[in-house]
Amino acid sequence: MAMVGCEGIVLRVRDFNEADRILTILSAAEGKFEAVARGARRPRSSMAGAAQLFTRANMMLFRGRSLDTLSSAEVLSTHQRVRSDLACMAYGSYIAELTDAMTAEREPAPDVYSLVCSTLAALDRKEARPAVVALGFEMKFLSLIGFKPELRQCVSCGAREPEADWFGPNEGGLLCARCRANDLTAVPVGDEARGLLRALMVRPYARLSGVGENGKAYVQARTALRRYVDLRVESSLRTLEFIDDVNSMGREEANDSEGGLEPDRQVT
Ligand SMILES: [Zn+2]
Repeated sequence: MAMVGCEGIVLRVRDFNEADRILTILSAAEGKFEAVARGARRPRSSMAGAAQLFTRANMMLFRGRSLDTLSSAEVLSTHQRVRSDLACMAYGSYIAELTDAMTAEREPAPDVYSLVCSTLAALDRKEARPAVVALGFEMKFLSLIGFKPELRQCVSCGAREPEADWFGPNEGGLLCARCRANDLTAVPVGDEARGLLRALMVRPYARLSGVGENGKAYVQARTALRRYVDLRVESSLRTLEFIDDVNSMGREEANDSEGGLEPDRQVT
C-alpha cells in the first residue's frame, strides 16, 4: 500500500467496527475522500484528536483500494469553540454537511478547501455570529462551485436595479416585476437585502460582523438564499433540523430570562 500525506479537514465522522471511526475528509489536492481511523474510539488513542468533526490536521494515510487508513496525524486545529458552543456546532455541522453533499469524491478542490478552512476559523472566533457566518458560507460556497447568482440585473431580461427587486431562486438571480412570474419561488429583495446578498458574496467574514440579524433586509436575504440552496442540494440536510432545535431552545431561554439573550447569542 502506498503512503500519502495531505492536509485535511474532517467533514463527517461515523462509528465503525468496535473501536474505529470512518472519517469523511476534505483536502485541497485530493478533494473529498473517506479514511478509517483504527482504534480512534479507544481511550488514549493517538487518533482520537484527529478523528473528530471539524479537526484540521496534517495526515499520513495508507492508500487502500476503496478506503484509506489514517496512519498518523498532526492536529492543526480542533476548532474548540465550534465543538463546544451549541449554536456554533449546529451551524458548523450544517457547513460540513452542505460541503459533503455538494462535492465530488477525489476531485481536487483547493478553493473549496480554503473556503471551508476560513469559514470554520471564522466560526471559531469568540465574537463570531454563527448564523451570519453560515449565510456567508452558503453564498460563497454556491458561487464557488458554479452556482453564482446574478445580483446586478434581472437574470431574465437584463433590467438593472432598482427595477430588479425580486430574487428568483429557481432562475438564479434578481428578477424585475415583469419577469418574476417566470419563477414561482421568487421572493422580494429590497435595496438593502440586495446589498447584503452582494456583501455575503464578496466580503471576508471579518467584514460581515456588522450585519444585523433581525432586520428586514437580513430576513429577505436569508429567505432568498435558503431557497436558492434548497433548490440546488439534492439530499435533504439533516443539520437544518439541528439548527431549528437550537434556535427554538434559544427562543425559550430568551422568553424565560428577564433580559433575554444577548443580541449576538440569538440565532436565527
Ligand atoms: Zn426582467
